[in-house]
Amino acid sequence: MRKYYRFVEGFRRFAKQRMAPDEAIALARNSIKKRVATREENFLNFVEKGVFCYSGSPYLKLLQPKKIDFMDLRRAVQKHGIEVSLRWLESEGVYFTVDEFKGKLPVVRNGAEFWCQEGMFDNPFLSYVYEVRSGATRSAGTRVRIDFDYLHQRSLYDALLLSMHDCLNAPIANWFPIFPGAPGINSSLRFSHIGNAARKWFSQVPEDRLNVNWEKKWGTKLIFTLGRLHGCPLAEPEYVPLDDALKIARWAAETLKENQHCVVYTFAASAVRICIAAAENNLNIRGTKFLVTGEPLTPQKRKEIEVMGASPVAVYGISEAGVIAAGCDQPHACSDHCHLYKDTTAIIAHRQSVPHSDLFVNSYLFTTLLYESPKLLLNVGMGDYGNLREFDCPCVFGQVGFSTQLSGIRSYEKLTGEGVTFVDTDFIRIIERELPERFGGRSTDYQLVEKEDGRGLTHLQLLVSPRVGTIQGSEVLEKFLNLLKRAEDSPESWSQSGTEMWKQSNMVRIVREYPIPTASGKILPFFMSKTKSVVETSASNVAVPKSAV
Ligand SMILES: [Zn+2]
Repeated sequence: MRKYYRFVEGFRRFAKQRMAPDEAIALARNSIKKRVATREENFLNFVEKGVFCYSGSPYLKLLQPKKIDFMDLRRAVQKHGIEVSLRWLESEGVYFTVDEFKGKLPVVRNGAEFWCQEGMFDNPFLSYVYEVRSGATRSAGTRVRIDFDYLHQRSLYDALLLSMHDCLNAPIANWFPIFPGAPGINSSLRFSHIGNAARKWFSQVPEDRLNVNWEKKWGTKLIFTLGRLHGCPLAEPEYVPLDDALKIARWAAETLKENQHCVVYTFAASAVRICIAAAENNLNIRGTKFLVTGEPLTPQKRKEIEVMGASPVAVYGISEAGVIAAGCDQPHACSDHCHLYKDTTAIIAHRQSVPHSDLFVNSYLFTTLLYESPKLLLNVGMGDYGNLREFDCPCVFGQVGFSTQLSGIRSYEKLTGEGVTFVDTDFIRIIERELPERFGGRSTDYQLVEKEDGRGLTHLQLLVSPRVGTIQGSEVLEKFLNLLKRAEDSPESWSQSGTEMWKQSNMVRIVREYPIPTASGKILPFFMSKTKSVVETSASNVAVPKSAV
């Protein structure tokens, strides 16, 4: 019962703190600038209490064998700054890869051997209020506790982002599945908090198509009821399937008759679908700002959006910390460039071998700097990699001190399509074992190949070797999607929304071709042709100082 009381009480306080847009932007500029200036102090304060003085901290198991204590770290940070100190810790084996963090692989380092569990990384100072899930379908490790104080802090960055793109007061629509994800409900709460509640919430997946537990359903209903009660009603989800993107294009076109700009916050592929629908129906959506997240904003996707006179803005988040970077209003060479919210997160690059391949990538290791962060991350990988560089930008983000640019962000352990990601372990089992068992052939007779078509939409081809005899393509496809939907035990996992969206978008196509071998002649369950080019171009920020202290 205490949990529900905290929820209701937390919401009440949150609603009371609600700001007008101008108030929010003033507070944002002021407090973010201050936090950038005190970033080192905040970090040291957070790790001293949350790591060195917290006996349950998993980081101690890696720090203690190396005899690194808080004073060592403090000296390093004071002398060289946070990033150099984090690279030193990494060189001393103080980091977790995504597989270690999620408890998929044991940690064997610094003379220690142990398994991590999801809860070990929870911020010990936080009394959480409700849980959300990331766009990944993994059942363990993606539950994230969100606190209303954290949402309050996070909403200030939205104010800064919207204001920079001239949209602080512009009408907003979300197009995100209702369950079980973070982006829909979180962004609704945050936008409402800065005095510009989303006018519409479109959902790609109907609620009744999903098997969600009562607590989750009830919790979401409660948020809407509390919103109405406290005078800040939130738009309730309205089912709009992927092939009905025209409906959202119409909303944008109508809205733009009376407003210079409007905002559509959605997955990158969903944004492209809206642009295609607008083009096919001669709708004018010039002035729409697409905040896109969940999957890479590739050059092709950017082009498809810009050709309509609309602007794409990359919004990059990780489920364990929320949105941590976003694009600015200046032109950049990379299609998905974004500024790291440097006061909330630090990132260093870690050379990481890609599972099931012979490739290496510069994987991002994340460190949380804010006291309100739901997870306490210190050099933890999330399966993403990309470029990382310091640069001067004349934009508002540059002015508040967000001087780190991320670009070319990709994932090396998940497949992403239509904003929903599936984890490789699920695929591997289905591709290598379950499909051959059902339709014949061997583990190397099936392969998934990821491709982006000329319109910027991603597709997966499921190659079935001609060596496997006669099959019904539609039967294989249905079996594949059903296996995927059932890939997890949890009824509230993303695999439900994900497979539903993949069915709608014809995401997966069966192709009777021989699986493609890698350069070294191996046949792997997926073939990702684009991985290599990104690996080759991302070379920044990998130098490891061996003696930072
Ligand atoms: Zn900028």
